[in-house]
Amino acid sequence: MTRNELIIYTVGMLAATNLFGIVYSYVVLNTSIFKKFRIQDKAYQPNIFKARFGLYFINLLMLLAFSAAGVYFIFDLFDTKDFTLWVIALQVFIAFVMDDFWFYFMHRYFHENKFLLRKIHSIHHRAHTPFPMEYLYGHPLEWMTGTIGVALGFAVIYFSFGSISVFAFLAFGFLRNLHEIHIHSDIELPIVSQIPFLSKTRHHDDHHSKLDGNYSSTFTWMDRIFKTTFRSK
Ligand SMILES: [Zn+2]
Ligand SMILES: [Zn+2]
Repeated sequence: MTRNELIIYTVGMLAATNLFGIVYSYVVLNTSIFKKFRIQDKAYQPNIFKARFGLYFINLLMLLAFSAAGVYFIFDLFDTKDFTLWVIALQVFIAFVMDDFWFYFMHRYFHENKFLLRKIHSIHHRAHTPFPMEYLYGHPLEWMTGTIGVALGFAVIYFSFGSISVFAFLAFGFLRNLHEIHIHSDIELPIVSQIPFLSKTRHHDDHHSKLDGNYSSTFTWMDRIFKTTFRSK
């Protein structure tokens, strides 16, 4: 796989998951298809999709541009061969664990530091009743800080395995985006909720509705270890 091909696949994968997020948001906000799976019973603000779209779109463009630039500069660390499926799965898992580890402390600090909470993180928390697209609705500085966790994960993988599987990289990006869209959907789909280790939508939904506890994103163990779990039910 060439450098340009990996850039195209990365940008294409991120664009596709976000297109899914936009369509999913539209269906959630404008139809009753998923109504019985909703966690909160509060109505959405009128025209909320339109109100959120500007900042969401800026962050999406930044995500695409930063990902393309990132792949361009670290392309030599990638490898397309010599990895078994188990090693690829292990690399994806390590990337998620490290990302979640970083996210927990970063997110908790954004709440404990009242200046950062007021000036930066409060933008993401305008969503008391979130809908899928709002996973990318936040201060651009906040989500850029979040990418440190991704870099940390792939640095650990590179130093442990000698190179990063392109398939692990793409699979991680794809699954991470889908999971972020899912936990902001306010919808607890029975099948998705059965996936072992993953945090359920309710975990992050409770964080949005109560503004307290549940700082981890992908898993729930960081909140359990540091005793910051909050449960509405
Ligand atoms: Zn928060
Ligand atoms: Zn959120």
